[in-house]
Amino acid sequence: MNDVPTRSLPEEVTATSEVAAGAVLTIDLGAIRENYRRLKARLGNVRCAGVLKADGYGVGASQVAAALLGEGCDIFFVALLGEGVALRRSIGPGPAIFVLNGIPPGAEQDAVAADLCAVINSVGQLAAWRAAGRRAGRKLPAAIQVDSGMSRLGMAPRDVERVATDPHAFDGIDIRFVMSHLACADEPEHPANERQRLAFEGLRKMLPAAPASLANSSGIFLGARFHYDLARPGAALYGINPTPARSNPMLPVVRLEAKVVQTRMLEAGVGVGYGHTFHTVAPLTAATISLGYADGWHRRAASAAWFEGARLPFLGRVSMDSIILDISALPSGKLREGDLVELLGPSQSVDDAAGHAGTIGYEILTSLGPRFHRRYVYG
Ligand SMILES: *Cc1c(COP(=O)(O)O)cnc(C)c1O
Repeated sequence: MNDVPTRSLPEEVTATSEVAAGAVLTIDLGAIRENYRRLKARLGNVRCAGVLKADGYGVGASQVAAALLGEGCDIFFVALLGEGVALRRSIGPGPAIFVLNGIPPGAEQDAVAADLCAVINSVGQLAAWRAAGRRAGRKLPAAIQVDSGMSRLGMAPRDVERVATDPHAFDGIDIRFVMSHLACADEPEHPANERQRLAFEGLRKMLPAAPASLANSSGIFLGARFHYDLARPGAALYGINPTPARSNPMLPVVRLEAKVVQTRMLEAGVGVGYGHTFHTVAPLTAATISLGYADGWHRRAASAAWFEGARLPFLGRVSMDSIILDISALPSGKLREGDLVELLGPSQSVDDAAGHAGTIGYEILTSLGPRFHRRYVYG
């Protein structure tokens, strides 16, 4: 037996401690606050929520919530009940937390106990929330989501018509908002935007009068007639460009850097990485960094890192925990073991990385894994 006394284990070394982690994710909460202020400025008197689903798009829901609370934001949206309960635990009583995917059948009591607001997407969810209100002996807060044309979540027009004719449909429910979601808001010329807005107008008129909410990040940039009473931005807060055809009006929020674990000279004619998908044609200098697909850097994601302005292309395939870079562009000895190279940041934005991978910034951010050392800064 090779018994290591527990006492001698290095307590300060955890999977994500700075010395142990392979990569560092820096999240600029000051930039998130500035992005919130920029959206508010566009919205005038319209209220602005913060969307924190998927752990705040991967960057940390509780830290982002604290930053937004500092800006006076008091309405949050998450996707799942569990995210809502965790957020309530983190921010305490007061601010409204809406659960976009609705409350799972049978879990209404848990939602009530955590003082969550249901987003009601169906006639069944409406009945369940009404019953929960009866049991609680008070009106329960909710947003009624209608499907204005995305065909994903929310009551279809025929469901809205059905509940509209039932005088007791909303008994025990405090309708905070009637809401819907846009399918094509990032394409301002897309005819579906105006079609959805008109459908939303028609549907909300059938329901009890309540404040309305339609715009996500990109929806805010479609103009004031899409703003209604509450906007629900997520992506733009995190620095993703809400106007893909134009330059990004938001500040970047994340920086991802990976540690160099080894550098080496490669001879001409050697195979590099799994499957030998790359062979050197001439001698080159390579560096192996501590980041891979297990960290959420997909094999198809952007295929270069950066160091002091130099582009360092990936060689061969992304491994689970490592990537091999061609560092020939740098003077010999410039990049050393322990140095950090940039994967996301000033040289390669989240949207750049997404473009290379044939995906969107949302997927790049929400893929970033739990192994990084995370650093929250006010830049
Ligand atoms: C995710 C989501 C949002 C936020 O969308 P962004 O494009 O990230 O701004 C708003 N509303 C609903 C219903 C959503 O699902």
